[in-house]
Amino acid sequence: MPGKPLSNTCVDCRNADYVLTIRGRSLCRECYIQFVGYKVFKRMEKYRLRRDLPINGPCSVLLPLSYGLSSSVLLHMVHAQVQRLLSKPHAPPGFELQVLIVEPSSISSSSPPHNEAFQLLQQRYPHASFTKLPLHSVYEYVPGLGDILSEYAGPGFADDVSLPPKDRLDTFRGSITSATSIADVDSVLLNRLIVAFAKSLRCFGVVWGDSDDRLAAKTLASVSKGRGSSLTWQVSDGTSPFGVEFTFPLRDLFTSELQNYANFFPDLTDVIIPDTPLSDNILTKNLSIDQLMMRYVSSQGAKYPGVMSNVTRTANKLQASRITTDGSRCALCETLICNPKGTSSHFQLATDSNQFCYACERSRPGLS
Ligand SMILES: [Zn+2]
Ligand SMILES: [Zn+2]
Repeated sequence: MPGKPLSNTCVDCRNADYVLTIRGRSLCRECYIQFVGYKVFKRMEKYRLRRDLPINGPCSVLLPLSYGLSSSVLLHMVHAQVQRLLSKPHAPPGFELQVLIVEPSSISSSSPPHNEAFQLLQQRYPHASFTKLPLHSVYEYVPGLGDILSEYAGPGFADDVSLPPKDRLDTFRGSITSATSIADVDSVLLNRLIVAFAKSLRCFGVVWGDSDDRLAAKTLASVSKGRGSSLTWQVSDGTSPFGVEFTFPLRDLFTSELQNYANFFPDLTDVIIPDTPLSDNILTKNLSIDQLMMRYVSSQGAKYPGVMSNVTRTANKLQASRITTDGSRCALCETLICNPKGTSSHFQLATDSNQFCYACERSRPGLS
């Protein structure tokens, strides 16, 4: 633009003033949206082009939405991709977008029900199908879970099947004492519900809304909780042990970059439940490891973003660890159980009882 100082101009289109700087590039609104959106678009190519997937027939992808910043931004971006696909006459077969909301109020009593947001989402994202489930519907989607939880909780816990599922789950959670163990078991149950729901819809994949820094926090927390052997599928793109593909399309983006993106879309910001920053007054011993790691990553990640992306990148390069296993799976989290050399699980199999992996054992009531 003649007469305009060059320094105000967007470095990509050179056609508008820049509004934000991302990774050393000063970009205008449109170019920022494109820059950030392209990182997700690239990761969704597998489903858009149906690479290694059946080319005909329906192909559904499940996006679990927590109303948090990351998963809401992911929905916005992936929905835009579906919309573009549908508008083109000779587009590749593409995918159908399914969205599952596990009601935040059913996970934590301090979260609001957020019912208006569910209606808003359906109006604003018409090319996606939405389902809302409470966490306790995991009893319905995972047959036999009641027995598994009873055995897991041990003799001190009595599961009353005549109670409504919500009360059953609350009683079970009440039997676990430490914040870390409750958060760990909740995340296992959440994962089981999401996977079981994805399978009930015959989805080929689950796309998770974890940003780069969140994946870094998850990596560090998983190792501290003894879930290091399941790191690969928890943070890497590829086949999960549950038979569905896991993809993390936001893995190249930081939370602050997603926040800047969301700020461009007021429609999007009003469905998002902002993260309540963990008060510094909360005693560290009352925080779960996940919360501690998130606090650490958000304070240090702001100062050293390179370190956090390194954590995520390194974890993403890990091969499924060469664990010694006889193929038996943990009854609670469904991942393969590592058997130390020379031991066998035949005894447990012979007694027909459920087996739990090392990490789940650590969160068991009485031990936590
Ligand atoms: Zn531009
Ligand atoms: Zn387990």
